[in-house]
Amino acid sequence: MTNYVNVVKRREMAHGDTSVMQKWFRDQARIKPGFFYDIQVDENNEITSIFWADSVMIADYACFGDFVSFDTTYRTNKQYMPLGIFVGFNHHKGTCVFGGALLYEENTIAFKCLFESFMRCMNYKLPQTLMTDQAPAISAAVREVLPGVYDALCSWHIDQNARKKLGARATSFFFEEFNHLIRHVDIEAEFEYGWQRMLVSWFDSKPVSDFKWLQFIYGFRSQWSSAWVKSNFTAEKGTTQLSEQFNAFARYYMKPDYSITEMLRRFQSLVDDLRHNEKSRDFYMQNNSLDNRFKNSSLMRHAYLVFTPTVFRIIHDEYEAGMGYTVREITEKQIGTTKVVEVQRWINKGSANATLVEEEVVYIDYEHQRFVKCSFRFLENWGLVCRHVLRVMEVYGAFDHEFCHSIPGMYIKDRWTRSFKSPAPRLVNWLAMAKSLLLRSSSSAPANLKGILS
Ligand SMILES: [Zn+2]
Repeated sequence: MTNYVNVVKRREMAHGDTSVMQKWFRDQARIKPGFFYDIQVDENNEITSIFWADSVMIADYACFGDFVSFDTTYRTNKQYMPLGIFVGFNHHKGTCVFGGALLYEENTIAFKCLFESFMRCMNYKLPQTLMTDQAPAISAAVREVLPGVYDALCSWHIDQNARKKLGARATSFFFEEFNHLIRHVDIEAEFEYGWQRMLVSWFDSKPVSDFKWLQFIYGFRSQWSSAWVKSNFTAEKGTTQLSEQFNAFARYYMKPDYSITEMLRRFQSLVDDLRHNEKSRDFYMQNNSLDNRFKNSSLMRHAYLVFTPTVFRIIHDEYEAGMGYTVREITEKQIGTTKVVEVQRWINKGSANATLVEEEVVYIDYEHQRFVKCSFRFLENWGLVCRHVLRVMEVYGAFDHEFCHSIPGMYIKDRWTRSFKSPAPRLVNWLAMAKSLLLRSSSSAPANLKGILS
């Protein structure tokens, strides 16, 4: 890797690209108010990375920076250095870009400097989750610079790597089991059992060299298996359609034979198109009515008013799915004033061959008319109300009219609501930008980050 980087550096210097690039960044900063860029160097004054973000990216991060995916795989041609892109979801669950980075080096120190720049640019506001495609270099940097942030590994990249590393051994049957462990296991014990079974089924008595990558990735299991991911905000149930779609999208915009400055221009047109897409969806939201098949439900009427169309559709589907569940309070399990309710889905219920296919537990502080949690962790993972809670609300609401006629506040995450960014979409942006400029000029990092950043 070092040799390759040195070769790239030498070529860059020879062609004077570094100064052309620096001019490009200086020009951007001159013509775009609030444009941020920062060049990171190592102890030998060699560039390790360059980070940049414009004012809209900074404002978008202020709104939607709870989840960040950092992807470094845009290196289709080895002639050019990798481009790192910080992306996330907007209120329509569409992709938005928070910043870009040119990566001259890909080691822990380089990533550490890059994330420090990212934090400085974003007012030291930490994401809840940072999803990345590289362990352990990035993970070590995250632990140091982004304390308390859940460092998730992108399951799409794990899947892609498995195909490369395991070759013909990884049959479609293997992937069925492997993907189950990535996306569908609920608890840690279930993962461990499934993992052992998978190793025995597919790799027993075969050369140990095949195990290396699997052992490596097993060491990071709490960063990619749903058993752990589900407890953290990713809005994708542990999968990353985001990476898959964005990779295809970026490949369309960035051809391998571009010079770096051409790549930077194309990157900007990708960002512009994503913003145009968001505006179209805002326009659609403000000018169209949606299909609500449950107009008799006050819960669904409330959800209709509060959430963006994409999010409403998710909740609408959850509500519909919830109708197939039964609800049963387990009085002997009550904890203080917290009631424990089992929400179950059966096949052939009432007949001799009845089968329980799903069971979740919903905890309600009934005295304070407040939900505590659902064992399915949809709130933790998506920031949304799940089918089990919706079912409990409808059933209990039928007995007690004081209970739950609207979606409770804990299930209304600002980032998914209609009013969070629109109808005055740029107002939030300008406020965030003004705040970031003020904070940056005072150069006072929060106390807990000062030590790390000095
Ligand atoms: Zn649930």
